[in-house]
Parts: sequence; structure tokens; C-alpha cells
Amino acid sequence: MNYEKVIGLEIHMRIKSQTKMFCGCQNAVELASEPNINVCPVCMWFPGMLPAINAQVVRLWVVAGMMMNCEINRVSRFDRKSYFYPDLPNSFQTTQLYEPIVWAWHVETMVEWKLQRFDIHHMHLENDAGKLAHAGWKTLCDYNRAGSPLMEIVTEPVFHSREEVMEFLKELQKMMRAAWVSDADMEKWQMRCDVNMSIREEGSDVLNNRTEHKNVNSFSAIGRCIDAEFKRQKKITESGWIVDQETRGWDDASGTSSSQRSKEDAMDYRYVPEPDILPIVLHEDMLEICKSQMVELPITKRIKYLETYKLWEDDARILTADYKLSEYFDQLVDLTDDAKKSCSIVTSVLLALMNESEEITKLSDLKFEISQLARVIELVNSDELSSTNAKQVIESLFYQGGKADAIVDEKNLRQKNDMWALQWIVDEVISANPDQVADYKGGNERIFGFLIWQCMKASGWQWNPKIFNELLKKKLD
Ligand code: ADP
Ligand code: MG
Ligand code: ZN
Repeated sequence: MNYEKVIGLEIHMRIKSQTKMFCGCQNAVELASEPNINVCPVCMWFPGMLPAINAQVVRLWVVAGMMMNCEINRVSRFDRKSYFYPDLPNSFQTTQLYEPIVWAWHVETMVEWKLQRFDIHHMHLENDAGKLAHAGWKTLCDYNRAGSPLMEIVTEPVFHSREEVMEFLKELQKMMRAAWVSDADMEKWQMRCDVNMSIREEGSDVLNNRTEHKNVNSFSAIGRCIDAEFKRQKKITESGWIVDQETRGWDDASGTSSSQRSKEDAMDYRYVPEPDILPIVLHEDMLEICKSQMVELPITKRIKYLETYKLWEDDARILTADYKLSEYFDQLVDLTDDAKKSCSIVTSVLLALMNESEEITKLSDLKFEISQLARVIELVNSDELSSTNAKQVIESLFYQGGKADAIVDEKNLRQKNDMWALQWIVDEVISANPDQVADYKGGNERIFGFLIWQCMKASGWQWNPKIFNELLKKKLD
């Protein structure tokens, strides 16, 4: 029997707002110098405190929804999800069950170079909990993170392989980074993922019991978790048992998971409408502001690179992996109208230099204006600079900054093609070699190379052979 994986994801992303969701505490948790200094009576939920929603959070959240091409609900509400855990100071989480901001839509990405569409069930907003550290029999609580805004994106059970899951998560990460909604760094806990999985006979469309692995926290761990869980469920099913619906913990070091608790139902959480926070009502002018923050989707860029610019797949992937890089590349193409050369200069010259350098590692560290890089491409295209020398000029721009033309002249790299002088050389060579010219005209094409060589020699090897090629052809053909 062949089994297929059925996977649904719940992804949490920390919204990159200045302050937390309901108070003025700093939201950049990583910057806190010690535990429990990023807190106030509101995010510690002291009696009598009234939370007020942060407008920037709402804006970024709407931008995220728009980037994913979905319908934004004009009115959305919060609910309380009650449970006790020491990392949650108020014993309930402020979340959205009944009227989240965004319902059903989809995200497109490429899996093995084919465009695929993955359905999303909904997205809602909720607040983060604190962080616990277990030391022997003691548990330490740090509430710096408590009250940070999280978006939760819940997919339909639409993934059937680890490749699909990876490509989808990477696309989501790129989208959120591009729109400045979230830094989505898994290592910094800004993006985390619950993996829900069941298996079924290939070709069937039933949904069997699933397990949920909470907060698997790197791309590679997610891949390992999926493979191990598939094996485990297959073994259970093949021996005639039914997989338990449960929450399991993934231990990446040992590559195994263990049962934590049986899967709870929404009812167990005693969801109730949140009485302290007013519904969010979005007005048209707010939506307009959000629209103006949208950027071109990374996948749209990638398709443009492949289909319009005819770039190689690997290059398109490299250029779109980092949104700033793709914007830089787009700008260069705008200036030069030459996507192929812009691509090779960015991917094989500029990125290589940035990889090597310890001082200049980001585009914002570059010491030269993008117009200078465009000028290098222009010089190559007008045959004033050879490709090999272009690399030298870019290196000089990279380390010292400056202007492309000044570097070309200073290093004496400009190829001369003064038309009048070239014409004169060609005429000289033709009249000095009548036999060879006759030979060429009689059909001996090989002699043409000899004539070019004569021109190069007469020019003191300073000139561009391509130009002589053209001029000779014009005269003789
Ligand atoms: P909960 O909030 O209790 O975790 P949901 O019904 O919201 O439950 O589903 C959570 C995730 O589980 C969704 O991503 C969904 O796609 C996925 N899921 C639901 N049923 C299955 C199944 N049979 N197999 C795999 N994934 C599933
Ligand atoms: Mg869940
Ligand atoms: Zn606070």
C-alpha cells in the first residue's frame, strides 16, 4: 500500500511594530538587556488595566493580508482563549476565533520550478506569551515577550511533501520581509510553525486522525519532523492500529517525538468574546494607506525574471531570496535595460565580493552609487570596456568607491574605437594585402582572421577586434 502525507501548518509570525500589541512597551524583544524590563502593568495584565490596540499593528497586519491578495474583513473582533500556563500572566490569550481579520485565500510559490497554489484557512491576530527557562526544579519566567503581536496563519491540509512545505514557508517568509511586516527569523523566534500531519492511502481524499507538533523551530527540523512522523504513522497504520489524535513534542537532537497530550478541542478553551477591546473597524482611508505600503510579490518578481528576462532558474532564485537584492537588481535593469548583464554582474561579481569582504556585507554598505554599476554595463555594451576589465573596475568601485569613468581612465582600460582612425587602418591593411583580399573574395573565409590580425597589429593591439571585424566585413562583403 502506498501512503501519502497530508500536512496543514499553523504559522506564527511576530509583527514588526515599534511597540507591543496593547501597550507602549518596546516590541524588539531581542534588544532587551535583561529579563522582565520590557514590561508594564498592561502587558502584565494587572487588575484594572485596559488594553488599547496599537494602530501600527493593525496596519501591518492588513498589509500582510493585502500582500496575500485576500479579502480584508472591515470589522473584526477579539476573543479570549482561556488556559493557565506560567508564561501567560492573565491566564487567557487575546486572540480571534469567530471574526478574524482575514478569511480564506491562497499563496502561490514554485515547487521544483512549477507554480503551485496553497490554500489558507484564515489569519488572525493574537498576543504572545512570555518565555520560560527551566533550571533544575526551578522555572524562571521572563515576560519581555508577553503582549508582542503575532499573526497566526492557518493553512488548509494541502501539503503532501516536505518540499512543498519548505517552499511555502520560504515564500511566506520572503513576502513578510518584503512588506516590512515581520523579520520572520526562525532563530529569533519571530516565525514558528506547528506541523499537523496525517497519512492516507494515495488517491483517497479522507482526512484521518492527525498529530500536531508544536513550534518546530527551523526549516531543517520541520523537514526531519515530517519524515519521522510519516514513518511512525505508517508503521502504526500498517499494523492495523489507528493513529491517536494528539499533540506531540519534536526533539530535533534525537530525531524523535513523544506524546504530550491528547488534542484539545476549541470548546476546551472556553472561548468568549473579549469584553475589554473594541472591535476593529477599518475605514477606507486606512485601507488606502495600507495599499500604498504593498510591494511586488517575490514570486511575481521571480516569474518576471524567468519569463520576461529569461534568466536561469538558479539566478532568479538567488535574486529573489533577498527582497532588497531583487529591488537593487530591478533598479539596475531600469538603468541599463540589460537584464542578462545586470544579473551576471550582480550574482557573480557583486555577491562574490560581498561574500569575501568582512566590511562590506550588505547592499547598504556599498561605497558607490548604483548608477556607476550601470555605467560599467554601458561601457561594456558600447565596447569601450572589455568584460574582464569590467570586473576590475567593479572591484575598484567596491573597495574604494568613486566613478566608473574615472577608474577606467586612471587604469587605462578604455578600448579605443575612434571610427575615423579605425577606418584608415582597415583601408591600409586592404591595400597592403591585395592577394589575401582577392583570396577572401574568392571564397577563402579563413583568410579573414589574418586580415583582422593585421589590423590589430597596425593599431598597436590597442583596439577592439570586434570593431575591425565589422569594418572589414562592410568593406569586403
Ligand atoms: P487546532 O486549532 O485545534 O489546531 P484546526 O482545525 O484549526 O485545529 O487545524 C489546525 C491545522 O491542522 C490546520 O492547519 C489544518 O490544515 C490541519 N489539519 C486539520 N485536519 C488535518 C488532517 N486530518 N491532517 C493533517 N492536517 C490537518
Ligand atoms: Mg493547532
Ligand atoms: Zn507593556
